[in-house]
Amino acid sequence: MTPMTPSLQPSEGRVILDNVLRQFNRAADRLGLDQGMRVWLQSTKRELTVHFPVRMDSGEIRTFTGFRVQHNITRGPAKGGIRYHPMVDLDEVRALAMLMTWKCAVVNIPYGGAKGGVCCEPKALSLRELEGLTRRYATEISLLIGPDKDIPAPDVNTNAQIMGWIMDTYSMHVGYSAPGVVTGKPLSIGGSLGRADATGRGVVYAIISAAKTLGLDLSRCTAAVQGCGNVGSAAIRLLNEEGCKLVGVSDSAGGTYNARGLDIKALLGHNGRTGSVAGFPGGEAITNAQLLELPVDILVPAAIENQITAANAARVQARIVAEGANGPTTMEADAILDARGTMVIPDILANAGGVIVSYFEWVQNLQEFFWGEERIRGELERIMRGSFNQVVEIQQREGISMREAAYLQAIGRVVQAHQDRGLYP
Ligand code: NAD
Repeated sequence: MTPMTPSLQPSEGRVILDNVLRQFNRAADRLGLDQGMRVWLQSTKRELTVHFPVRMDSGEIRTFTGFRVQHNITRGPAKGGIRYHPMVDLDEVRALAMLMTWKCAVVNIPYGGAKGGVCCEPKALSLRELEGLTRRYATEISLLIGPDKDIPAPDVNTNAQIMGWIMDTYSMHVGYSAPGVVTGKPLSIGGSLGRADATGRGVVYAIISAAKTLGLDLSRCTAAVQGCGNVGSAAIRLLNEEGCKLVGVSDSAGGTYNARGLDIKALLGHNGRTGSVAGFPGGEAITNAQLLELPVDILVPAAIENQITAANAARVQARIVAEGANGPTTMEADAILDARGTMVIPDILANAGGVIVSYFEWVQNLQEFFWGEERIRGELERIMRGSFNQVVEIQQREGISMREAAYLQAIGRVVQAHQDRGLYP
């Protein structure tokens, strides 16, 4: 048997946390933040690690590890998704929680930032095991969550059904229905119209604004999308509706490319039937690495973090990179893209549509009054366009990247809230 060799590589979680902290520090330098505020904002407010048993279908009891981290709650209750993935670790959850604080601040919705995750391979679990794991994890983190305290939502490998189980578990504990404890729920229990495709729709609103800024006609643009899950599939569908030619799409199993343009209806059908875009008969097979380097106008990384790095950034040809995923570009890659004049719409802005419509869902739950889809789309578009324009204004005024501008806007708002609240006691 080969002995286990400890890996010398930092974990993906460590890489994204370093990246997020360095981005924060660069903005903190520019804002002239004092050391006290800087250390406080780099710190997560609460971190809960839970180890919990789940009875598997075989009768065996397996122990899983999960996390819920709240980074900052100065501007409102903590908000952030729950991820089920074998690579989830505390550093990754910390980084993603911090990104949520900045995301809610950059689009000016009254939330702080949080994130959760369970280290597991959900595809290897039966539906009953997935429900058991979810209900037990929800119970373990019920110390932190609640409609006024911390409101989870879907993220990688979690969906409306999982949010429904969390809502039900929490409601059983408190003894009444508490729809406002999670967002991204099924419509039948207080979910919002427009939530399912909100993140991808927001990405496309950001791309429309970017194209306008750069003087590009979307109906003459080509695009490639990495990831065909919640975010990626909606972005693909809506970009296609804007007349954009989708030439490449990939996911964890591989990708597909057609220079003449992919048949999106057929591709999404194939993805729905087989669970992947790989093997799509209407295109030639490509790898994820090749997808990122395709000759396209628009690239949407909408899968996982650390995809555009110092190793491949110089070969990214897109004019616009719209970060559907959280943390897909490392800081080294950012500098390379910047030098090439690529417009990178940063994650905290580009993929904020999900949390914006989550906010609408929560408001509807608290008011017990539901909005029509037209109102939701209109409000989402208004917030995305307004936030995009504010960030571009800062970018042009300061002569910096959009990411730096978005961080300045977000951190400035959180610092202002701290100052206005004062320091307790
Ligand atoms: P999802 O689970 O629905 O889909 C993830 C997609 O990424 C799948 O197509 C999967 O095959 C692919 N993928 C996974 N690992 C990959 C790899 N190593 N290489 C290539 N592709 C891979 O997840 P989602 O909700 O669409 O989230 C995608 C990204 O968007 C994540 O970074 C998430 O944090 C971010 N995000 C999601 C939301 C939301 O509302 N769901 C909101 C904001 C940001």
